[in-house]
Amino acid sequence: MDKSKFSDGLPDELYPKLNTEQIARLSQVGVRRSVPAGEILFDQGTIGRHFYVVLQGAMEAVIPSSEGEVHMHLHQPGDFTGELDMLSGRPSLVRVRTVDPTEVVELDQVSVRNLVQTDPELGEFLLQIFVRRRVAMISRAMGDVVLIGSRYSADTLRLKEFLARNEHPFTYLELGQDAQAEQLLQRFHLDPEDIPVLIGRDQSPMRNPTNAELAARLGLNAEIDGERVYDLIVVGGGPSGLAAAVYGASEGLSVLVLEAIAPGGQAGSSSRIENYLGFPLGISGQDLAGRAFVQAEKFGAQIAVARHATAIRCDRQPFPIECDGEDPVRGRAVIIACGAEYRKLQVANLVRFEGAGVYYGATPLEAQLCKGEDVIVVGGGNSAGQAAMFLSTIANHVYMLVRTSGLADSMSQYLIRRIEECRDITLLVRTEIVGLAGAGCLESVTWKNRDTGETETHPIRHIFSMTGANPNTAWLEGCLALDSRGFIKTGADLTADDLDSAAWPPGRSPYLFETSVPGVFAVGDIRSGSVKRVASAVGEGSVVVQLVHRVLAG
Ligand SMILES: Cc1cc2nc3c(=O)[nH]c(=O)nc-3n(C[C@H](O)[C@H](O)[C@H](O)COP(=O)(O)OP(=O)(O)OC[C@H]3O[C@@H](n4cnc5c(N)ncnc54)[C@H](O)[C@@H]3O)c2cc1C
Repeated sequence: MDKSKFSDGLPDELYPKLNTEQIARLSQVGVRRSVPAGEILFDQGTIGRHFYVVLQGAMEAVIPSSEGEVHMHLHQPGDFTGELDMLSGRPSLVRVRTVDPTEVVELDQVSVRNLVQTDPELGEFLLQIFVRRRVAMISRAMGDVVLIGSRYSADTLRLKEFLARNEHPFTYLELGQDAQAEQLLQRFHLDPEDIPVLIGRDQSPMRNPTNAELAARLGLNAEIDGERVYDLIVVGGGPSGLAAAVYGASEGLSVLVLEAIAPGGQAGSSSRIENYLGFPLGISGQDLAGRAFVQAEKFGAQIAVARHATAIRCDRQPFPIECDGEDPVRGRAVIIACGAEYRKLQVANLVRFEGAGVYYGATPLEAQLCKGEDVIVVGGGNSAGQAAMFLSTIANHVYMLVRTSGLADSMSQYLIRRIEECRDITLLVRTEIVGLAGAGCLESVTWKNRDTGETETHPIRHIFSMTGANPNTAWLEGCLALDSRGFIKTGADLTADDLDSAAWPPGRSPYLFETSVPGVFAVGDIRSGSVKRVASAVGEGSVVVQLVHRVLAG
C-alpha cells in the first residue's frame, strides 16, 4: 500500500486512536464485520451512513471531485470514521473504502447518538473529534460543493453566508481572479452572467439557487420526517429557539426546529459577544450558534434549515405549520422564537445595494470585503458599537453615524469608552444617510447633518446598518395577540380582552411565555417586553420547556 499519498490529508491529531477499553465498549453496541479490500463502506452523499472502528487492515477516506479523489486519511487499527454528519444525519461528505482486507466494528447512527448521550467519557471524546474534523474540513474547503461568484454580487454573499452559517464546507472561486472559475463555467457551458453558480457532487450546476433549493440539493434537511407529529415545534433557530431545542430534546421531547436561514439568528451575525456569561474573552456569534446547534443535535433535536414558516393553524391540534412550498409539519406544542429583523435605511434605492455594499451583519465574511477601505457603521446601539470596534481592526477608517446627539443613551459604557479612544473611528452625531450611488455595487454615500442640513458625499463602498429591529410576526396573520409594536404578548401581559378575543378556554390562566393560544409559546426578542440580549433569549428558551411539559401532560 502506498501511504505517501495520504500526507496532504487532515492532520494526525484529528485521528486519535481509541484504546482497547473504548473499543470494547463500542463492540458491545456494534457488530463485527470482515470487509474485503476495495469495498466502499459509504460514499459521498450517503444518508444515514454507519460508523466504523478499524480492528485490523486499513481503509481510506477521500473526497471525490471532478479532478479525482482528494485524500483525507488512512484509517488503521484503532482509528474510527465520522464527523458531524454522524449526529445531524446529513449526507456524508466523504467516501470511505477499504484498501486491505479489513476487520471493523460497525455501528448505526442511532447507536452512535445513544452512546454520545449515555457514555460521558466516550461521548465527549467522539463529539470533540467530530467537531474538530468538521472545522478542519471547513477551513481547508474540503466539501462537496464549489461556488463560483463575485464579490460584487449580493447573491454570492447570500450563498456564502448560507453555506458558512450552516457549517457546510465549500470551495469558493472568484470570477476574474481564479482561473479555474472561468474553466469550470466553460466546461458547463455557462456565462459569467450566470454567477453565482454552484456545482455539487452530482456535477450538475445550479444557477443562483434560493437557500431552500441549495438546502434540498445538499440534503441539509435529509432527516426531517414530515409525517411525524412532534411533541414540540420551535419556529426560529436563534439563541432562544436553540436553547428550547436543547432543553426539550434533552428532556425526552421529540423536537423539530424550523429555521428560515441558518441556526444562530441575530447573534450569528455578531463578530463578538462579550457579555454572555462564561465567555470572559467574548465569543463570536457563529461560534456560539455552532456549539448550540451541535448540542441540540446531540440530544436528538431535528433542525430544518431554509424552512421559512409562513402560516400556523392555531385552531387545530396538533398545530399544523406551513413552510414555503413544503407540506405542513405538526406539533402538539409550539414555541415561536422568530426574533426580529433589522430595520432598513430610509433611502430610495437601498434594495440595489443590499449585499453589494450594504450589510446587516459584521462577521469576518463581510469584513474581508472591505479590508483597507473606509466603511460606515450606522446605529448607536451595542451591535453598532461592536461592529465599529471589530471593523476598525480591518478597515482603513470607520465612520459611525448616529441620528441622535450621542451614544450615552443607547450603548454600554465600556463600548462608548473604546470607541472614543479608537483613532480609527470617527463618530458623526445628528447625521443620517440620504443617498447611495453606484453602478452594480455601492460606490459613494451621501450623508446629511440633521441640524445644519449640510450634505457630504464620500467614495465609500461599504455600509454596515445596525439600527435596531422589528419583530418577525407578519406571518402569524392575526393568530396571536400582539402589542402595539407587533411583538407577541404572553403570560400576565395578556389582558382579559386579548383572552376573550382569542376564545381562551376557561379553567386556567396562560402560563409564563404562553400566548393567547393555549399550547403556543413565544420567547426571546419576538416576545413583548423581552430584554433583547443573548442571555435572556437563552434563559427564556430554557425555562419555557418546563411549561411545555405542563401543557403536554394536561
Ligand atoms: C450584530 C448584533 C450584535 C449583537 N450583540 C449582542 C451582544 O453582544 N450581547 C447580547 O446580549 N446581545 C446581542 N445582540 C442581540 C441578540 O443577538 C439578540 O437579543 C438575540 O439573538 C435574540 O435571540 P432570539 O432567538 O430571540 O432571536 P433571533 O436571534 O432574532 O433569532 C430568530 C431566528 O428565527 C428565524 N426566523 C425568523 N422568522 C422565521 C420564520 N417565519 N420561520 C422560521 N424561522 C424564522 C431567523 O432566521 C433567526 O434565525 C446582538 C444583535 C446583533 C444583530
